[in-house]
Amino acid sequence: MNATVSGPLWSDTVAFGNIARPNLIQDIEVDVAIVGAGFTGLWSAYYLKKQAPHLTIAVIDANHVGFGASGRNGGWCSALFPASFNKLAKLFGPDQAKRMHTAMVGNITEIARVIALENIDCDWSHGGTVIAARNRVQLDRARDEVKEHSASGLPANDLEFLSADEIANHANFAGALGGTFTPNCAALNPAKLVHGLAQVVEGLGTQIFEKSPVLQITKHKVSTAKASVNAKFIVRATEGYSPTIKQTRRAVVPVYSLMIATEPLSASFWQKTGLARRQTFSDFRNLVIYGQRTADNRIAFGGRGAPYHFGSQITPQNDLVPEVHSLLEKTLLELFPDVAGSKITHTWGGALGIARDWMASCGLDPETGIAWAGGYVGDGVSTSNLAGRTLADLICGQSSDLTTLPWVNHRSPNWEVEPFRWIGINSALVAVKHADAVEAKHERTSKVNPLLGRLIGE
Ligand SMILES: Cc1cc2nc3c(=O)[nH]c(=O)nc-3n(C[C@H](O)[C@H](O)[C@H](O)COP(=O)(O)OP(=O)(O)OC[C@H]3O[C@@H](n4cnc5c(N)ncnc54)[C@H](O)[C@@H]3O)c2cc1C
Repeated sequence: MNATVSGPLWSDTVAFGNIARPNLIQDIEVDVAIVGAGFTGLWSAYYLKKQAPHLTIAVIDANHVGFGASGRNGGWCSALFPASFNKLAKLFGPDQAKRMHTAMVGNITEIARVIALENIDCDWSHGGTVIAARNRVQLDRARDEVKEHSASGLPANDLEFLSADEIANHANFAGALGGTFTPNCAALNPAKLVHGLAQVVEGLGTQIFEKSPVLQITKHKVSTAKASVNAKFIVRATEGYSPTIKQTRRAVVPVYSLMIATEPLSASFWQKTGLARRQTFSDFRNLVIYGQRTADNRIAFGGRGAPYHFGSQITPQNDLVPEVHSLLEKTLLELFPDVAGSKITHTWGGALGIARDWMASCGLDPETGIAWAGGYVGDGVSTSNLAGRTLADLICGQSSDLTTLPWVNHRSPNWEVEPFRWIGINSALVAVKHADAVEAKHERTSKVNPLLGRLIGE
């Protein structure tokens, strides 16, 4: 297999060139300034405009719409949240944990509603997620997850255990001993969604400024090198890129997730492989992997494993780590050996954002007018929608079911200063890879590696 294009598959599917958006070159005043034109920023603008059409809103991006994780991700629109149900129950009580779960499931219905209403074609397919267990340790993990799920009182049909025969009805994973299925996920093309959303919010009267890096966010003021925006409210929607802004250097760490895409695969491949409803897929290893069958019958497949870069550095070079891309090819072949001989047409990567306590949050400081949302780890496609709806309520002063969810106004601590940050994150990464290597030999490891556990606050 030979790699070809170094860039997201999704970028080829949307027209960037024909939209010329202005740069911010003179001071302006608006009701709401939104920093970042990814899902978080654009969903916030969308729901604000729907709720209060008179508000003047400016979105300011350092690059262009969808430049960040929103234009590069695996396209899992899931109900996954970075903090587990048990962690939420421990922090906020079981009822709040359940409310959060219900809200997350509701995101999928809400996004489906909006894309239908606004005619956003983003290759949506609500097929659920199938996760394979490919060794005995992984199978135990699958069983435990389903047991914990039913013990927590969440709806049983949210997560079902699959035997080896049952998983074969979803996908023909090599060596699958069983696994799980949840209906709570849709596959989508993220670039089509983020660009579609940008056009919708512009249609509602929102201004979007591109190529305008924000240097500082202070009380009611957003400053770039050339101009500033005075605003009653500011939404910081910069996720993994937050360390580029003076006030939020240690709010999250940018951790890279990397992806590959195959060429469109033949009808006979799909006949044998399954995923007929474009179920998103993964397996029960510790190091996250994720895949989807795209609307044009490729596999887009990704995983973590790229190193954290000292000082939270974000550069285009970090998107391409040949060892990680090769490992992704190898892993994909292990899952579906019939991929052998097909071309890998795209390799890419991007930075996602992780808060120190692995707890996503959104909120508003009424004193400064600064709102924020993020820390989604790899689950921001749908969580950002919940953030947008919640921030709109907070900014409009509307108390609602959303504004009392447990992640609202949660404050994560800052990450450690370097070199402790670098040592901690990269050590945990090594430990996770080691756990998978041990488990592949069918030996048992502890459920959450202790080092990783300390890092994610389990
Ligand atoms: C490879 C990869 C795969 C993933 N897969 C999935 C998945 O399958 N499912 C899922 O739920 N999540 C996934 N995620 C995570 C998900 O993509 C993100 O959580 C989500 O897109 C975050 O959206 P956002 O709008 O908050 O941030 P982003 O999309 O990162 O947007 C931030 C924006 O801020 C702009 N910006 C940065 N700095 C500045 C500045 N100083 N001034 C102005 N603007 C600035 C950037 O240009 C960017 O456009 C994945 C992430 C990656 C990288």
